[in-house]
Parts: sequence; C-alpha cells; structure tokens
Amino acid sequence: MRGLDTVAVRRRNESAWLVPADGHDVNHRLRADMRTFADEDEVDLVVVGCGAGGSTVVQRLARRGWRVVALDAGPFWDPERDWVSDEAGSHHLYWNEPRVISGDDPVPLGSNNSGRGIGGSMVHFAGYTPRFHPSDFRTMTEDGVGADWPIDYTDLRPYYEDIEAELPVAGQDWPWGDPHRYPHSPHPVSGNGEVFMRGAQALGIPTRVGPVAIANGRFGHRAHCIYRGFCLQGCKVNAKASPLITHVPDALAHGAEVRADSMVSRVGVDERTGLATGVHYVRRGRQRFQRARAVAVAGYSIETPRLLLNSASARFPQGLCNDFDQVGRYLMVQGAPQTAGRFHDEVRMWKGPPPEVSTEAFYETDPAKPYQRGFSVQTVSPLPITWAEHVSAQGHFGDDLRRYMSDYPHWACLGALCEFLPRPGNRVTLAAEQDRHGLPVAHFSYSQGDNDRMLVTAAREVMESILRAAGATEVITIDRFAHLVGGARMARDDRHGVVDATCRTFAVPNLYITDGSVLPTQGSANPALTIMAVAARAADLLAAGARSGTPSTT
Ligand SMILES: Cc1cc2nc3c(=O)[nH]c(=O)nc-3n(C[C@H](O)[C@H](O)[C@H](O)COP(=O)(O)OP(=O)(O)OC[C@H]3O[C@@H](n4cnc5c(N)ncnc54)[C@H](O)[C@@H]3O)c2cc1C
Ligand code: SF4
Repeated sequence: MRGLDTVAVRRRNESAWLVPADGHDVNHRLRADMRTFADEDEVDLVVVGCGAGGSTVVQRLARRGWRVVALDAGPFWDPERDWVSDEAGSHHLYWNEPRVISGDDPVPLGSNNSGRGIGGSMVHFAGYTPRFHPSDFRTMTEDGVGADWPIDYTDLRPYYEDIEAELPVAGQDWPWGDPHRYPHSPHPVSGNGEVFMRGAQALGIPTRVGPVAIANGRFGHRAHCIYRGFCLQGCKVNAKASPLITHVPDALAHGAEVRADSMVSRVGVDERTGLATGVHYVRRGRQRFQRARAVAVAGYSIETPRLLLNSASARFPQGLCNDFDQVGRYLMVQGAPQTAGRFHDEVRMWKGPPPEVSTEAFYETDPAKPYQRGFSVQTVSPLPITWAEHVSAQGHFGDDLRRYMSDYPHWACLGALCEFLPRPGNRVTLAAEQDRHGLPVAHFSYSQGDNDRMLVTAAREVMESILRAAGATEVITIDRFAHLVGGARMARDDRHGVVDATCRTFAVPNLYITDGSVLPTQGSANPALTIMAVAARAADLLAAGARSGTPSTT
C-alpha cells in the first residue's frame, strides 16, 4: 500500500471500518438499527436506485445531515446468504425484468447488462476502474465527433481521487490520459495477465497492471483478495468494491434509510408549481408514495429514461423532462469484441480476478487511422459457462464444443472496449409490452455507425496479434457489447440534453439524475468510477446550493 491517507478517507466515508472485524460480510446491527421514515415524512431527498450513482449521492448527503431515503427495486443483499461462487447460481443478481430491443444492431439485454438490488450493477461488475481521459470531455472540439460535455476533466479530478481512495483502487502508475498514481499497489498477475503482457511486450505495446477496485492490503476491516476469480458473481469476501460495501454502510451510519424491494413507477410532480413532490412506488404489492423535497433518479441508463417517460402528466405530456424530445436519446454501448487464444501450456485463466492488466495505448484518435477515437484492451477471463458462450458464438456445437470445453485450461482471453459514438436515434422509448406491475417496459433501439465498425475491426486485429505474439496457436474472436451509458445526457441547454452541468434536470428544478444516464460520451474506459465521481460532484453542488439558498451552478 502506498500513500493512502486512511484517516482522511475515514473522515469522509467510514464504510470499510463498519464491516465487522470478525470475518463476517454484513454488519447486521447497522441494518437492524437503520433509521426509517414514513411515506408521509417529507424527506430532503428521495433517491431512485441504489447502484453506483445513487449510493454515492445517498452517502454524501446523509453525511451532511440530509434526511435521505433510497428506494431500490431489488433486494438488500446479504453476501453470505444470497451469493454463491458459481456462474449458474448468480443470475438473480441481474436485472431480468423484460425489455424490448430492436435496431440494426440490437443489444441483448436481460442477462448480465445491469444489476438489481442494493449495490446495483457494481455487485457483479468486473472491477476495472479507469478514469476517463481529458479528451473525452471535448470530443466534438478535438475530433469533430460525439459531444462536448458542459464540464471538463479538471472538474472531476478531485472526485476521481476521492472515490479511488474510498473503493480503494489498486494499480501501477498510470501513464495515459491525465497520468496519476493509485492508492494501492498493483496485484500479482495470473496466467492470463502474463500472456497479455508477454504478447504486448513483443509488439512494443505498453500495458499496466490494474486499475481495479479490489483491496490490496489492509483497508478498514475489508478482506484481502483471495484470487478465486468470482468477481462477476459478487465478491463474497468483500475484497472487490461495490456500493453495498463502500458507500451504503456509511450512509446507514449517518441516518439514511435504504428501502429495498421498492419499484418506483413514476415521479410525482405538482401540476401547479412544476416541482417534484416525491415518488410513487410498489412495495410488497402495495402502491405507495414517498414524499420528498427533492428527487434524484439513478436507475441505470435503461430504467432512468423509462421512468421519466412513464412519469408523463398533463404538464409533461411527452414524458417528464422530455419537452425537447431528449429523454432516452444518445444512449451508448461500448463495442466489446472478445478474443481467445490457445496455448500449448496451461494458462488457467480462471485463477485470479478477471480484471488484471490493461492498455490504453489505442485510446486516443490516431490521425493515421481512418476512424476517430479509439479502444482499450483488458484481460477478461471468462468462467466455463461464459467460455461456452464464446465458443458456441463461433458456431462450435456438439463434439466440437465439448472439445473446446475440455481444453479450457489452455485458453487465454482478452476483451476490448471500443468507444461507440452517441447517436440520437439510439434511444429508449416505451414499448407496448408491460411488466408485472402494469408499467410499459423500455424499448431500446440500437444501430452502429461506420466509425463504430472500424473500431471493432481494429480492436480485433490488435487483440489477435497480441495473443499470436504471445504464442497462441489458434485465436477466436466474438463480437459483444458492454456498459450502457447515456439516455438523459448532460448538456449546456435543454435543446441538447436533459440535465445541466450539476445533474439537475432543465425541466424540474428539484429533480436530479445521478447515474450513468447523464454521460454525453463514454470514452473507451469502463464507466463506474466516472459515474461515482459525477454523482459525488452533483451531491457536493446540491449541498452547497441548499446551504447558500441559491441554485447550484458550476
Ligand atoms: C457484467 C458486468 C461487468 C461490468 N464490469 C465493469 C467494470 O469492470 N468496470 C466498470 O466501470 N463498469 C463495469 N460494469 C458497468 C457498471 O457496473 C455500471 O456502468 C454501473 O454500475 C452503472 O451505474 P448506475 O448508477 O448507472 O446504475 P446501477 O449501478 O445499475 O444502479 C441502478 C439501480 O437502480 C435500481 N432501479 C432501476 N430502476 C428502478 C426503479 N424503477 N425503482 C427502483 N429501483 C430501480 C436497480 O435495481 C439498480 O440497483 C459492468 C457491468 C456488468 C453488467
Ligand atoms: S478474485 Fe478477489 S475480488 Fe474477485 S471475487 Fe475473488 S476475492 Fe473477490
């Protein structure tokens, strides 16, 4: 461990010290003693969704003495009781409610795209936590594509540093984007990471170990990683970060209520004043309404636009905050081709966390290439079921599939994240189909552009060359998608987005959006750290504005 000021971290977020010191995962006393509010209590803030963005806001404002209630559609997970180190047994972690997809390149939803329950998608996220690059905030100015954010990298830098210390993040010194260090030193690397580093080195491609939100050393009462590789199934030992461990305990200790199994069906708005009054939700079959002075929506890039559209009223007939037809638009997904290589010696890629080694050498626009923006490459290490999906996506079935499966220990696997550009037609609307609560489900239409396709081709070529340079005798690549963001983007005005630079909606002064939906571009970095940093900044500005009695601005 290097230079991590645990006293300062503890002063702003004590979660790691609230985990029991006796080896158990959950502080049951903290949950049992949780402050509760009645629906009739007008709390200061109700937050919809307790994932990456929502939990950060809840924790930050609870710390400042706000009366906060967070509602989440899923359960309050108890890792010891609810999680298993087993791929097939972990599907209940995903948002499996129906969603409709279409477009030229429909994005499969309903399996492992997003999470459900306290902690959100980070419960089963891999754990990579890179920052965005400064260029990500001005792609239109620099490259003539995408969009400029109404904030820039320096606005987020202090929040990146804070969240990296709270998760905490482990990794080598980072040379790309805004070069920086990490609070924990890099983890040791397993067979898959060694293959990546060997192949990349042979081609002169720089790599780094990390950055991963997996504790590497003493951090409060959190356990050290035991390198069993079940990060995408929820880490039972508390080594991998998710808000369930990193932000919710501190929020509870500071008087927030986290109300699980509460599906929010619409945001209530006073037709006369145009202000949000709270949220309607369904809990244990009962329709309820939580009153609040302000509302923050953080339900993920599909469910957030869906909720706004489902909150149409006489004042907002096209959907809440949708007077300029911006809700649901510019939803992005990263192209995530995955390449596996076979080696004579055993690699045993399951032995270690899937997130280990990455390169951002191809992240920025290269003027010599026919495409704009770029991609990153990371180790991915699929477990057996995901490995079977990889092999069968290549058309291998029956005896052939069995042969690839029994050969599993000899394979290494890399994944790319390609920066697909935001397009207005890639959007969420409401489908005719309804869910079990009678609410229209989200319809997500997605089509790639030429630049997107060129990036995928380039990333495939790089990954295949790396694995070949490391000694692979066979390589197989499949196309995938990863990481949905956008759909209620941040912009300078209401003609181009849904929220302003502070995450406040243009249409409703006391309604905020604090999840990945607000991202105008996505870079080729995994998004969770940026989502938490944006949410932490929004909470700071919200609190500052409330204190001064004036609306918060940048
Ligand atoms: C398999 C997988 C691996 C990933 N790996 C990485 C990685 O390595 N690094 C990285 O940075 N990112 C990764 N991600 C993505 C990352 O986890 C998400 O981008 C991030 O968690 C999104 O944050 P959010 O706040 O937008 O939403 P979430 O974290 O998904 O939180 C949304 C919450 O809202 C709740 N909710 C939704 N609708 C409602 C409603 N109507 N009422 C009440 N509650 C509601 C949901 O139950 C959920 O808990 C991965 C994702 C997946 C699926
Ligand atoms: S490999 Fe480490 S971080 Fe991943 S699930 Fe196991 S203990 Fe947790």
